[in-house]
Parts: sequence; structure tokens; C-alpha cells
Amino acid sequence: MNELPHHATLLAACRHAIQYLEGLAVKPVSSASTLQGLRRQLRKELPDVPMDPEEVITELVADVEGGILGSAGGRFFAWAIGGSLPAALAADWLTSAWDQNAALYACGPAAAVVEEVAGAWLKRILGLPEDSSFAFVSGCQMAHVTCLAAARWELLNHCGWDVEQHGLGGAPPICVIASNRHGSVERAVRLIGIGAIHITDLPLDETERVRSETLEDRLETCHGSPIVVVLQAGDLNTGAFDRYAELIPLAHRFGAWVHIDGAFGLWAAASTHYRQLLEGYEQADSWATDGHKWLNVPYDCGYAFVARPTPHRAAMSHRAPYLIHDGDARDQIDWNPEWSRRGRGFATYAALRQLGRQGLELMVDRCCQHARDLVAGIGGMPGVEVLWKPILNQGLVRFRDPNPGATVHDRYTDAVIQRLLADGRGFFMGTTWHGMRAMRISVLNWQTTAADITTAIDAVAQCLAA
Ligand SMILES: *Cc1c(COP(=O)(O)O)cnc(C)c1O
Repeated sequence: MNELPHHATLLAACRHAIQYLEGLAVKPVSSASTLQGLRRQLRKELPDVPMDPEEVITELVADVEGGILGSAGGRFFAWAIGGSLPAALAADWLTSAWDQNAALYACGPAAAVVEEVAGAWLKRILGLPEDSSFAFVSGCQMAHVTCLAAARWELLNHCGWDVEQHGLGGAPPICVIASNRHGSVERAVRLIGIGAIHITDLPLDETERVRSETLEDRLETCHGSPIVVVLQAGDLNTGAFDRYAELIPLAHRFGAWVHIDGAFGLWAAASTHYRQLLEGYEQADSWATDGHKWLNVPYDCGYAFVARPTPHRAAMSHRAPYLIHDGDARDQIDWNPEWSRRGRGFATYAALRQLGRQGLELMVDRCCQHARDLVAGIGGMPGVEVLWKPILNQGLVRFRDPNPGATVHDRYTDAVIQRLLADGRGFFMGTTWHGMRAMRISVLNWQTTAADITTAIDAVAQCLAA
């Protein structure tokens, strides 16, 4: 039998992938390239004639040189970006090879069943109600859209308004009350037509959480309107968690729908050491989280969960004469905002089997320990101020300008971060927190080791001395 035309190309891709992954331990984490350099390398003539596929791949690998961050590895501490577990990455490759359209059971039977199984596993691991519905979406952003569309349906249905038929024009306006929210919440509110102006951001207390009196005042103001309350499970700067046990029953007394953004923080549920941060969260109406962050599944993978399947399905489900529905099987199109879509369940299924409950707990605990060690190691250096000690896996430090008389340390903090990026032994980014520039420390890669933490601390010490 002749070799498939794929053969040499896929083997070449596999070799390059392994070479990249092996290089992560020793190569700089930051990018060596510039925008102009990458454009020079990649802006080729659109070819008129076909190219050999293996050559396409070999040239692609050569041309992105310097422009691929080491974010898949263990010394990347910026934003909240995980790596990929071996089983998850391999399953993701197969997902592409199998190329199933995971919209319906009929066009991807195993993809549908894998999502059904992995969805049930996720609910158990995350401690969510067993009868909640779920969707595997592209990330937490789309999980918010999915959950808030379900919220919109249910809240307006209670007012006797069918939003799916009539849209929002003429509907009672929905009030959105948010604690410490991520930007993706606002975008979800915009995308589902509520409009950003209808969001009220509540002030936080010194623990970066909303007090129940603060929420109650706002609920009183909105009383009579349909209300969505968005709570935080793991703020991106501080990892702060809201007081769900107080806030959720309070919001429910006002008929509000409570949504929780737990992009990475919901994974605290997997650990007996951190689970108490989430106390009372299971009473919410919907939850959004990511697979591509702390579960270490490749991009893109997020999860939406809705406590009651009816509003979720009502907001998403679709029927068309040419679609074949199996009465018993899961058709993802009933729960997802996309039509054609990737078989996103395979990588999650593989990640959960590779780790098991114990492996996941160990990974969560290890990342939190590394975050504490990193903050303590950097915080112990002269001129470093710890702004936030991790309660989970996120911390904040800033660098005080050593010039006598310096009172604002923003420029100096940013300069040290720039030096660190040039150094390349650890990747960190800045943020503005309470009006100050700060450096974020975020650990959620399964590969990060104690040696990586030591390397990163050494890099900070040298950049401070420079
Ligand atoms: C990353 C993040 C999001 C957005 O998630 P995506 O997966 O990037 O869509 C939302 N909320 C928080 C707290 C996050 O950290």
C-alpha cells in the first residue's frame, strides 16, 4: 500500500512539536523576535501553485522562530495561562486528525459521548450539582455568553417575555450587578444585548470581596427588575473569592440569577486544602470556567454549567429540517452557541484520565505552593513590596524605586518587568492594582517545578541588581 500523503508531514510536525517541548526547559520564555521581524519572515507571496505539505510545515516552523513564547512550559507566570498535559495534547492532535463535526451525535458519535462523560466528571470534580447542564465552549468568555443567555431567558420568561422570539426591544431592562469582574463579563453582557451601561460594579472591601450590605443596597435599588449578579471565584490579580454562602441566598431573595466567573478559581474545588474558599458556590445558577487554564488542556477549551437545563437549552437549542437528532444522545448544538465545532471533549477526557482526582489535586496544590514560594522569594529581596500574598495561585509584588526621594514606583516596576522579559528566564507581566503598577505572579502549569521557581527568583534578583 502506498503511504498516505499525510505521512511525512505529520511525522515532521511531531518531530518539531517534541523539539519545541524539549526546548522549554532550557530556552528563554520570552519572545526574541520583533513585530517587523515576524512580518518579514511570514509575509510571503500568496502562492499560485501548490506546495509540498511537508515543506509548508518545515518552513512554517522556521518562519515563526523567535515568535513562539515558552508559555507551554513551567517558567511562564504572566496572565493565567496553563500548559498542556501530554495526554490532552495528544488527544487534541487526534481531534484534528479525526476532524469530527461535534455539533450533533449524528456527525460525531464518539465526540458526543465523550463530552457527555467528561461533562459529568467535571461536575463531580468541581462539586457542581449533578443535574446541571453544561457546554464545552471556546473559553470562559463564551461560557459567560452561554450562561448569561440562559439567565436572560429565564429572567425574562418570569416576566412573561419570550426573548428568543421577541429579542430585547421592549423587554424589561436587565440589571447586572457585578463584584470584581473580569473584562470578559462586560463583553458577554454586550454580546447578549443587555449593554454595558446596565452593569453596576460594586465596591470591594479590604479583602477584595463584596460585603453583603453593599450587595443588598444595590439589589434594593434594582428591585422589581430582572437581575443578574456576577460573582468572582478567583480574581485575576488576587485570586479573591466572594462570600457565596451569604451573597447567593441574598441575591435569590430578590429573584436574581447568580453567575460565577471561576475561570481558574473554580479548580480550587479539586483540592481539599482550597475547597473552603468556595463555600456556598454550589447554590449559584451558573458557573463558567476554563479547561485551557488550570486543567492544562490545549487552547481552546472552556466550560459553561447551568443549574437548570431548561433555560440553558431554551437559549441555545436549534432545530432544522436537515439535522438528524437522536432522541437519547447528546446533541451539543442544543447547549452550545456554535454550529459546526471541534470535538472539544476528547482533550478534557484525556486530561482528566491522565491526572485522576488525586493528580488534579496534587497539581492544584503544587501550583499554589509554587506561587507562595515565588512571592516569598521575590518579596524577601530589598526594595520589593509584596502587595498580595497568594490565597490561591496569584500574587502581586512591586519594585520600589531605589532613588532617594522616589515616591511613585510605577515606572521602576515596569522597568524591572522589562528587564525580566529581556532576561527570559521567567515570564512576568504588569498590572495596575489600586492605582499602582504591580507585577503579577500566576502559577498554573502542571510542569512548573521547584527548580523553575529558583531560576525565576534568581532572574529577579539579577534584574533588580542590574
Ligand atoms: C481568563 C479569564 C477569563 C476569560 O477566559 P477566556 O478563557 O480567556 O475566554 C474570564 N475570567 C477570568 C477571571 C479569567 O482569568
